[in-house]
Amino acid sequence: MKQELHLKRMAILITSKCTLKCKLCLSYSPYYEPQRHADLDYLKRAFKSFFSMVDSVDIFTLSGGEPLMHPHLVDIYKMLFLYENQINKSVDMVINSTLLLKDDLLDFLELKKDKIKIILSDYGNGLSPKIDENIELLKKRNIVYRISRFNGDNLYYDGWIDFTDHSIKWNTVEERDSNASKCMQRVGKYFIINEGEIHCCSRGFWRSYNNIIPKIKGEYVDLLNDDISVEEKQKDLRTMISLPSSESCSRCPGFSNDLPRHYPAEQL
Ligand code: SF4
Repeated sequence: MKQELHLKRMAILITSKCTLKCKLCLSYSPYYEPQRHADLDYLKRAFKSFFSMVDSVDIFTLSGGEPLMHPHLVDIYKMLFLYENQINKSVDMVINSTLLLKDDLLDFLELKKDKIKIILSDYGNGLSPKIDENIELLKKRNIVYRISRFNGDNLYYDGWIDFTDHSIKWNTVEERDSNASKCMQRVGKYFIINEGEIHCCSRGFWRSYNNIIPKIKGEYVDLLNDDISVEEKQKDLRTMISLPSSESCSRCPGFSNDLPRHYPAEQL
């Protein structure tokens, strides 16, 4: 009997360009050289490969960098909505509130508003100047949104974790598993797609992309490799889902509540 494959979440990085330069960016956007937008042909292939592997995903997120900088954002939404029936809850997009939502994008979001959510980051300190205007635009069209505030005065809730040190922190698999069991990203399986590969999180992608860790079968999925069958890719994804931690976790403090927090959105 066919075993179905359902995921709670998947995110795709559609650009590494950003209007801000956050030192502790979770996606390492300011550190890409060069920063660039994902092209449409690549995204079309990545969506096709991903949705041929999974039966459904609850939430699919467009992320970056700053997605609103992508010149073909509406086309990306249209391509993704070809798989609308495999997205159970919503297509989310995380924006940093530095840019205004454009009319053609709002037209599409309104059309699909039953399955759309916009997450507006509010960094305060003048870093998210368009937040109020964007909220008004979304409200006018009844498009669902959520504000992610990082500008409160409680560093415990608003502060960011420093993931820029990639040295080994856990020497044994037991230690690594134990720490990863406190990591929200690992426990929540916040997997991401970047450069045609699925990784456990953007730290995992970054460490692999920069050869800080080796590529290990079952710790990533090579979406665009046509020499690998859909069944084999599904097997790799199932392995990823079942693992309590991966090689990247051995170099990671993990995303947990008991770590020191740093001032949010500090600029380079
Ligand atoms: S411990 Fe680090 S590398 Fe592992 S899943 Fe969590 S954030 Fe990603």
